[in-house]
Amino acid sequence: MRVALIYVGQPESELRPVMSPPIGPQLLGTLLLHHGAEVELFDSRLQPADRLLAAVDDFDPHLVGFSYLSPNADEAVALARAVRRPGRAIVAGGVHASIHTEATLAIGVFDTVVRREGESAILDLYDRLVAGEPLPPIVEGTAWPDVDTLPPYADFDCYRGVYDQEGYRPVYLQLGRGCPMQCTFCELPNRQVFEPPRRRFRTVDTVMAEVHEYVRRWGVDFVTIADPIATLNLPLLMGVVRRMDAELPDVGLMFNGHVNRFSRALAEVLGEAQAGRDREGQRITVWFGFESGSQRLLDFMRKRTSVADGLAVARLCRDHDVQVGANLLLGVPTETEDDYRAHHAFMDEIEPTFPNPNILNPLPGTEMYDYCADRGLLRDPADHSIWRDSDIAARGEGPVLGIDYQRVLATYRHYRDEPAPESEPRYRSWAADDDTTTGCG
Ligand code: SF4
Repeated sequence: MRVALIYVGQPESELRPVMSPPIGPQLLGTLLLHHGAEVELFDSRLQPADRLLAAVDDFDPHLVGFSYLSPNADEAVALARAVRRPGRAIVAGGVHASIHTEATLAIGVFDTVVRREGESAILDLYDRLVAGEPLPPIVEGTAWPDVDTLPPYADFDCYRGVYDQEGYRPVYLQLGRGCPMQCTFCELPNRQVFEPPRRRFRTVDTVMAEVHEYVRRWGVDFVTIADPIATLNLPLLMGVVRRMDAELPDVGLMFNGHVNRFSRALAEVLGEAQAGRDREGQRITVWFGFESGSQRLLDFMRKRTSVADGLAVARLCRDHDVQVGANLLLGVPTETEDDYRAHHAFMDEIEPTFPNPNILNPLPGTEMYDYCADRGLLRDPADHSIWRDSDIAARGEGPVLGIDYQRVLATYRHYRDEPAPESEPRYRSWAADDDTTTGCG
């Protein structure tokens, strides 16, 4: 049986629409391969739609799975409609489909929607197809029983060119799953998308074996740990950093830390690993979702962090020569001039290596979206597109009513346009280029 998995997403940059191939399709495709399926991956960012559709038809799959976020839902539906053939099952998964399950089914294009995590669900659907059984309209995905048994990605044609490209050759890696926090602007606390946050972790040996495999196979020279909070399991992270330092000192590393989950011991380990890493691409960066220098706004967004603790972890990193990426969220309902003064004071104090402003786009399925919807603050509740700074500048308005978008734009550009420390391209948080607000990016 043949399975095509199609990722529909936003280009990461104009020159390199895919810098790091996404985890989901690579992992699902690999599990299906191990399960006996013939699998091809496709990515909407790597070719025009007509070529993608022709390539899918050449492969002639029995099942086509789509993964996409809300901003790409219309594009995914159009592609799904175009690849429908008699006897071909069309399946949707991912965050948007998990939140808008019934609405996605009602479009009449998808046979099945998978909610939550997809690994076990896609294997179950495949088995049903092989057995000639009908597919259920909704599958409640269950968590993979042991994340340490998840295999390294297979070498799919779709992304080989991306891993072969000149310049950085980054790869996404996971240390574990789950986030215990409840930030109101983030989709991860939504139980329709993710199971309750039982923390599930891999082991240092498995993680390092996977990194070595990618370095050997693709010449990977940069690892992005995609966990929402990579510092949840400090012994695991410190073990990985120590092994990377000893075994792969030329491979750069970045990950998301959390203000409440950081330690002097980790800073020391990172500092030791940083020593001797002279090129930007080799260096280690910790990204923090500080989001604000205003305690009032942190509380409003239920960050459960304090400005003082944010200053302390940034200082700890600086003392140990660890690069800091600082996410700052602008355009938040209720924000005032005082809050912006607090943002600037905070950023001036922490002097991040990579300041990274983001503009709030309330995402369906988040508490922030409901807050805005309940108060009539959404400019267009049916519009799930991401408003970038250029959209806001062109239209003179933004996604949330009552926000001073001139102030937002001025602040956004102030931090975005600060020169990078070296002339090399910046490596940014895994979600940063979308200006979305999912996860700590
Ligand atoms: S923003 Fe980060 S810390 Fe907050 S819920 Fe999302 S992933 Fe967790």
